[in-house]
Amino acid sequence: MGKLASEIQYLPGVGPKRALLLQRELGITTFSDLIHLYPFRYIDRSGILPIADIRPDLAYVQVLARVVKAEMKGKRLSVIVADESGQLELVFFKGIRWSAERLKPGALFVFFGKPTTFGGRINLVHPEIDAPPQAGASAAGPGTLTGVYTSTEALKNAGITGKVMLKLQDAALAACLPEIEETLPDYILREKGLAPLAYALRNIHFPQNQEALAKATYRLKFEELFFLQLSLLKQKYVRSRAENGIRMPKVGPDFNACYAALPYALTGAQKRVIKEIRADMASGRQMNRLLQGDVGSGKTMVAVLSALIAVGNGFQACLMAPTEVLAQQHYANISRYLAPTGVRCALLTGSTGARERREIHAALADGSLGILIGTHALIEDDVRFRRLGLAVIDEQHRFGVDQRSKLWQKGPEGMRPHVLVMTATPIPRTLAMTLYGDLDVSVIDEMPPGRKPVRTLQIGQGKRYELYNFMKKEIAQGRQVFVVYPLIFESEKMDLKNLEQGYEEIVAAFPFPPYKVAIVHGQQSAEEKAFQMAAFVEGRAQILVSTTVIEVGVDVPNASVMVIESAQRFGLSQLHQLRGRVGRGAEQSYCILVKDPKTGKDSQKRLDLLCATEDGFVLAEEDMKMRGPGDLEGTQQSGLPIALNIASLARDGVLLSQARELADRVLAADPALAAPQNAPLVRELRKDKYNIKDYSKIS
Ligand code: ADP
Ligand code: MG
Repeated sequence: MGKLASEIQYLPGVGPKRALLLQRELGITTFSDLIHLYPFRYIDRSGILPIADIRPDLAYVQVLARVVKAEMKGKRLSVIVADESGQLELVFFKGIRWSAERLKPGALFVFFGKPTTFGGRINLVHPEIDAPPQAGASAAGPGTLTGVYTSTEALKNAGITGKVMLKLQDAALAACLPEIEETLPDYILREKGLAPLAYALRNIHFPQNQEALAKATYRLKFEELFFLQLSLLKQKYVRSRAENGIRMPKVGPDFNACYAALPYALTGAQKRVIKEIRADMASGRQMNRLLQGDVGSGKTMVAVLSALIAVGNGFQACLMAPTEVLAQQHYANISRYLAPTGVRCALLTGSTGARERREIHAALADGSLGILIGTHALIEDDVRFRRLGLAVIDEQHRFGVDQRSKLWQKGPEGMRPHVLVMTATPIPRTLAMTLYGDLDVSVIDEMPPGRKPVRTLQIGQGKRYELYNFMKKEIAQGRQVFVVYPLIFESEKMDLKNLEQGYEEIVAAFPFPPYKVAIVHGQQSAEEKAFQMAAFVEGRAQILVSTTVIEVGVDVPNASVMVIESAQRFGLSQLHQLRGRVGRGAEQSYCILVKDPKTGKDSQKRLDLLCATEDGFVLAEEDMKMRGPGDLEGTQQSGLPIALNIASLARDGVLLSQARELADRVLAADPALAAPQNAPLVRELRKDKYNIKDYSKIS
């Protein structure tokens, strides 16, 4: 290990100043970091275009032309070049002296750049300049595909242009390739037909041709996904061999009492999931299960029955919700479900009074409190359970990893409570495999019967009068209406103003009496929020104006209309979540997307998709394709366990499945990776980047 770990400043052409920049702008500190910065696209430079054929919509053009004249025009250098078909202007704002010296009239060059139009004429601003190709150029020269690297203004200003970057890569590769060690065992390379690592690295930067580039890309993507899955699955293998879970062999009388008193029959999917959870909790291994189910699919019931299994075996359970509003609603619902049982439950949130808090603490400690429901107040240190056997986390992505780990530590004397994570954000399969690679996943893929699909439509701002009339008609039939405004963190103040203006407008259109309009947003005190929310939930207010705080969980079966203001600003999954707030009763429900006239193409596509389907998984897949997994709702906070360098969860789903299948097979055959042939795998997994926070312990 010499060159790979060398500091980047020692690479010829870098030095201390550029090293600092590379570190700051691209996070590159070593030679190895540099060669793992791959081009994000390639330009085919084999084609020379006649100047007459240049059109402004071409992404890049390359011309072979002779300099006609160069002159200063104000602060810029204008260079006219010509080939047989016509003339073209090149424009330089920087490096003027250097360019002027080089671009002497009569000299022949290859110019490469993006056409832009200025004053109705096409020109190239700061084109790359190369010597013309020579007859019989050596094969060792750069191929016709040229890599393009991520860059920044600061890097360009420091002279680290695309061309310089290529030179640096070339130098780093020359230094490093001899000591590159193959990371995949031979048997894997053979089985998957993968190119060797050194070949792949060389060709990802300097592809000999399209085929070599394809091979290199495939190899590097596969490797990346494979090690990601291997590291995740390895944790799962380690855990499943350790018998450190709490065995809960029976369901107990409270489970049965609750079940018998249910006002409805469980759906097939609910039954299946409860069976899976029962088996987990009885197994003696710690359960780590992710429960995915679209909004309204009935996850709460599953949580209640799971909690009652814990209680039935002499343990306690808790349910943590991301917001106070949700915790309250859970508490109200769950109390109802628990009525036929003798199980006590309590609500603990930030606004729980001191006396009540003391009582809860005491009842938790003596074990008389079976189920505790709350917000992140649950994870505070002074909340001590006598025997916590199950922790249910609703809307998992709202909690940070560290918060979850605190919950896990509340188990009895070193025993890990079972963990059930619930999410209504349908996570595409590929993402779930990665985010929760070591969790077992259950899906409720069936809705309770009798739901009518929500009718979704888009309207422009100009249709407000009709919208209000429609709302009045629904309200006259005893229904309720949500009106949601976007609230995006960066512009919170402005958004709040929009919300308040909207509220005033609605109050003016729906005067009291007979109408009552409630408003909920993040800047309110907990009491105010609870008060406003209660007015709507209890039916005293017909309209609830809010930000997205009602996004998850809130259940008002009587609400039949969801109006989403500035709908173009929401993500697809979020829109879907919001729509899920209505359509819970038997009445026809509506989701009305109010969009701005300046709705962009992508936003429009999102709205169209939403109108086209109610399947949350389809929408999540589409959302991921459009925005990339990093921006996908529910993932911003938890983040990917490992940043992917070349593979994409959105595009490489098939490859990911293959990589996971192989990783699983490798571990099944050799769980400790002790076989000599797997030595390269162990070596690779030792690297820092695979030091993933142990999700098995914290989720
Ligand atoms: P979510 O999965 O979004 O948390 P909830 O648990 O809040 O869904 O359930 C949504 C609504 O559906 C609730 O009013 C609940 O009482 C009802 N529900 C749940 N399961 C069933 C079922 N099997 N049959 C009929 N209604 C059900
Ligand atoms: Mg819910």
